[in-house]
Amino acid sequence: MLDISAEQNRLVTAAFRDEMRHIADRAAELDEDRSFPSEDIARLTAIGALASPFARIEDGERPVAPEELLQGLILLGTASLPLGRLFEGHVNAAELIRRYGTREQRERVGRDAKNGCLFGVWNTEGAEGVRLARANGHITLLGAKTFATGAGFVDRPMITARDEDDRLFMVLPRLDKTARADLSAWRAHGMRASATGTFCFTGLVVEPDDIIGKGGDYHRQPHFSGGAWRFCAVQLGAMERLIEEARSSLRRSGRDSDPHQRARMGEALMAVETARLWTERAANIAEADDAPLPPAAENIVAYVNLARCAVERAGLDVMELVQRSIGLSAFLRTNAVERICRDLATYLRQPAPDRTLCEGAAYALRSDQAIGELWR
Ligand SMILES: Cc1cc2nc3c(=O)[nH]c(=O)nc-3n(C[C@H](O)[C@H](O)[C@H](O)COP(=O)(O)OP(=O)(O)OC[C@H]3O[C@@H](n4cnc5c(N)ncnc54)[C@H](O)[C@@H]3O)c2cc1C
Repeated sequence: MLDISAEQNRLVTAAFRDEMRHIADRAAELDEDRSFPSEDIARLTAIGALASPFARIEDGERPVAPEELLQGLILLGTASLPLGRLFEGHVNAAELIRRYGTREQRERVGRDAKNGCLFGVWNTEGAEGVRLARANGHITLLGAKTFATGAGFVDRPMITARDEDDRLFMVLPRLDKTARADLSAWRAHGMRASATGTFCFTGLVVEPDDIIGKGGDYHRQPHFSGGAWRFCAVQLGAMERLIEEARSSLRRSGRDSDPHQRARMGEALMAVETARLWTERAANIAEADDAPLPPAAENIVAYVNLARCAVERAGLDVMELVQRSIGLSAFLRTNAVERICRDLATYLRQPAPDRTLCEGAAYALRSDQAIGELWR
């Protein structure tokens, strides 16, 4: 793994760890439709964690070492998946702007982040999508984003929009005071506090300086797929928490020496460690691109794609094992396991899982390298 350099900014401080305990305590009461972890975001702002992914962004430097970010995302996932999802989107925006923004744009977002602005990345959309419409010498946005986390709460959403030639651009629009978020459809099984809704951008004027990078940059590989390790890390945190909850439950009920319970615990530990090894390695491989000899983009993409699938499988296995170990109590509303399983099951739904697995497999099928050398 790469070392955390002394100049790099710290995310996982003592204050951050301390805050995670309070966030975990608040998560149950936030498990409601139309809720949002405003207090958690305010606390992360107060301890500098929200600004941390944007630190030194003006220089295009990587603000937080990947190992540190990995650790932070896991801890967030352990405390609260909705908050972890929001933070992961905030980091994703920082990474895209750091990579593709101009110095002026990076300086501007760096100032916004210091002032407590929450960022997000909203790409998902319905059939119409969001367009860049040219009229009377202006460019305006037309259309809406769907499944947008923090809709109505994110201050600076980075969105994708197509121009008249169907090229996809990243846009950082300046929001007005109009109520544009619609959370009415977010009556979700889990991740209720993530405020994942529809947001209408129609009529917002786009200045040239609001466009980040060139057409097609958003999907540029290996960064587009490679960044998936970050949501894997958040999901991993929740898996670790579920196993801790199962361990406490088994000890409390005096069922921890039962051989069936031990076998299930062993299987859950294997699954979660598998998820951790894949996630750590995916982070390492995906973030090695600043090193002198970057691995080929498709090699990185294949590895992270497979990591995504391995983590999903581990998450599904951990939930089943924990639920079977605890039994019916794991399905009662006051039990944290009930909520975390709903949150995790929902958050594990990521785009095109079948294609992700098949693309990972296709890479290995095309390659003439020994299987054991594919990622070494
Ligand atoms: C909590 C949460 C927050 C989110 N926040 C954001 C956000 O802030 N910004 C954002 O942009 N998005 C966000 N999303 C949306 C996310 O990025 C995905 O778009 C969404 O999760 C896709 O889920 P899906 O199960 O509908 O995926 P799908 O890709 O539709 O997959 C469903 C199933 O269909 C299969 N499938 C997919 N494509 C095809 C096809 N062409 N033919 C046949 N089968 C197919 C898949 O393999 C899978 O089996 C969020 C999602 C969640 C769960």
